[in-house]
Amino acid sequence: MAAQSRDFYEMLGVSRNASADEIKRAYRTLARKFHPDFNREPDAADKFKEIQGAYEVLSDEAKREQYDRYGEAGLNPNAAGGAGFSGVDFGDIFGNFFEDFMGGKRAGGASEVRGDDLREDIELTLEEVASGIEKTIKFQRLETCDTCSGSGAKPGTSVETCTQCKGAGQLRFSQNTLLGTFHTTQACPKCRGKGTTIASPCNTCSGTGRSRKTMERSIKIPAGADSGMRLRLVNEGDAGANGGEHGDLYLFIHVREHALFERRGNDIYAKIPVSFPTLALGGTIQIPIVGGIEEMKVPEGTQSGNEFVVKGRGLPDIRGRKTGELYITVNASVPRNLNAEQKELLQKFAETLGEHHEEQKGFFERLFKH
Ligand SMILES: [Zn+2]
Ligand SMILES: [Zn+2]
Repeated sequence: MAAQSRDFYEMLGVSRNASADEIKRAYRTLARKFHPDFNREPDAADKFKEIQGAYEVLSDEAKREQYDRYGEAGLNPNAAGGAGFSGVDFGDIFGNFFEDFMGGKRAGGASEVRGDDLREDIELTLEEVASGIEKTIKFQRLETCDTCSGSGAKPGTSVETCTQCKGAGQLRFSQNTLLGTFHTTQACPKCRGKGTTIASPCNTCSGTGRSRKTMERSIKIPAGADSGMRLRLVNEGDAGANGGEHGDLYLFIHVREHALFERRGNDIYAKIPVSFPTLALGGTIQIPIVGGIEEMKVPEGTQSGNEFVVKGRGLPDIRGRKTGELYITVNASVPRNLNAEQKELLQKFAETLGEHHEEQKGFFERLFKH
């Protein structure tokens, strides 16, 4: 692989007479795209290095001139073709680069960190879902420590500026290479990037500035909520560090199965037993609705297994759309343990039907019909 064949302009996707600004912009775009921290493709790291190398040369007026005149060989006569690049001025480019990316504050030590999001699970009954309900939940979250007001230092003592980084939170390293000096910054190891150290840590929070507390909140659960839904409670998660805002709390909803009702979306299904005489003669029956009992008429000659719709007796829609329906399936209940009188009556009744009453006849005729 001949190093001379590499075209730095092409690598950055700029023309030979691109301005310094254009080169910088092209570099930053590509560096974002291929930085190994953000790009997990296996060749991203190599690509990133190449871009870095190309930028290192084209961003330096003298080196760019050398390169334009003699090609890559003119830059580094000692290196045996394509040995890779030493680095780039991270202090300049990457300072801004990471700031853009992370949204963090570089200068002045510790930056605000948003608290973690939390998850809590809540179980509801169908009745609670039907009406909507206010529930009190208890959960644990990190709160800014009362004892030290979040500083992490024992009361009466104070937080000190880190002696190693002088409060900056980061240390700058310089390295000399064939292509010049470049700088990198690293989080200060003594204060771990905070810029401050604590001589006597607060006992309550062990110097972290936050401690775990049990919280109690009253939450309105909207009518029509269903399993799998979650409510986001803004700023009810863990407290942030260094004055950062709270995370959020996500409340995951689980609706308990009901002994009688089956839920399908906003519709409710129930099977109820009805006596044979009522189905045959028709009449008014009692049906369960979510949270109560209602009456429903069945017509004469209702068959076991028939389904009836009770309009608007399902669950309310969480977005305020159409309320669901209640579907009632009636099943003939066959009595057990009849007394002698009942048996006799039923016997007499059976005789009035005849041995093969009409429906049965029709049914068995189908057995031989092809
Ligand atoms: Zn504390
Ligand atoms: Zn430090």
